[in-house]
Amino acid sequence: MSFDNLGLSADILRAVIEQGYSEPTPIQRQAIPVVLNGQDILAGAQTGTGKTAGFTLPLLEILHEHSQGKGHRPVRALVLTPTRELAAQVGESVETYGKYLPLRSTVVFGGVKINPQITKLRHGVDILVATPGRLLDHAQQGTVNLSHVEILVLDEADRMLDMGFIHDIRRILKLLPRERQNLLFSATYSKKIKQLANDLLNEPEMIEVARRNTTAETVAQIVYPVDKGRKRELLSHMIGSQNWRQVLVFTRTKHGANRLAKQLEKDGLRAAAIHGNKSQGARTRALADFKKGEIRVLVATDIAARGLDIDQLPHVVNFELPNVAEDYIHRIGRTGRAGNEGEAASLVCIDELGLLKDIERLLKRKISQEIIPGYEVDSSIKAEPIKNGRNSRQQQGRGSQPANKKREHKRPRRASNRRRGKPQPG
Ligand code: AMP
Repeated sequence: MSFDNLGLSADILRAVIEQGYSEPTPIQRQAIPVVLNGQDILAGAQTGTGKTAGFTLPLLEILHEHSQGKGHRPVRALVLTPTRELAAQVGESVETYGKYLPLRSTVVFGGVKINPQITKLRHGVDILVATPGRLLDHAQQGTVNLSHVEILVLDEADRMLDMGFIHDIRRILKLLPRERQNLLFSATYSKKIKQLANDLLNEPEMIEVARRNTTAETVAQIVYPVDKGRKRELLSHMIGSQNWRQVLVFTRTKHGANRLAKQLEKDGLRAAAIHGNKSQGARTRALADFKKGEIRVLVATDIAARGLDIDQLPHVVNFELPNVAEDYIHRIGRTGRAGNEGEAASLVCIDELGLLKDIERLLKRKISQEIIPGYEVDSSIKAEPIKNGRNSRQQQGRGSQPANKKREHKRPRRASNRRRGKPQPG
């Protein structure tokens, strides 16, 4: 199936073709016609499935078809993302796919100056990509008006909830018109996501591409049992002996990421750490250097790495297993993209056997294990409890307000969906 049959304008198709995409991915095939039809969707899709274009392309099409003409532009589409990096990436996609359309977009997130954002908003934008906290700052200062939003996208909604953004999201929802189209994307379906979907969505079309809680088939997963104290040495050995040029390494904590990056530098490997305490500039620079190949090892926490789009990343290493089994799936989703083969290695010490069990239970299969000669496990070492790294994640949320007991107003049901008279795939 080609992009031609999906109901997108020539100017959007031109931008898509320039990206070198020959055919839509499964999420795009399913989501684009439904969104063009004006329906709400609940989409289960991870990063790497092409989900961003899955909502961006039809969103551009809708805004373009019902163009507001010249004059002041109210925000008509709002995309909320959990992290700054993801916001920046979605913003780039909007620019890329919309380059031949007369639509304006901008991105707002925290950690950078607010004034340039205010200037852009004042000029008027059709599409706004934002992280919840900074968007609320703008709303409180009166520098953004959300009362004309026609389409709301919640990207990586599960992660937004994990980060404690639920109260911010609910406050933002109150600023939007009741009559609007809602697109909710989530890699996993927790009870909380189901509840949010229930409150927010109006007769949504359910779209699911990768089966729930499964990992990409193109990713080879392997566990290397090793003692905790020898993990860094083993990692350097693996990178050096197999000549890995680009590897993304996960740690549980910010402190652990910093320490590991420093140690790897001492081993002669160009490395950098990205996590929530780094300035936005430092994170963007590290990611750019990594993409260019100037940094060989990028050490990241779960939050910082979420949504990173690095083409054809061949190696992901879990230096430490995540405390939350679902994060394992998110982590290894960075590799094996769009049909490319990837490898996800986990260095697992005796303390982490419980976490490994949780992950295998979630995957519903065992991950094969391999012992690297010279790094055999010392059976005299006893397991120790793992320090909980989740606190750092919770602190990044802004959910300090009391829980909102009132159920979010459901918008009135539409008499009929906006039919756009576009050809629908068979
Ligand atoms: P996403 O899941 O949105 O993060 O997209 C993952 C990667 O897939 C990005 O690098 C996109 O540029 C790429 N991509 C999106 N749609 C297509 C397509 N139809 N064909 C090939 N690559 C695509």
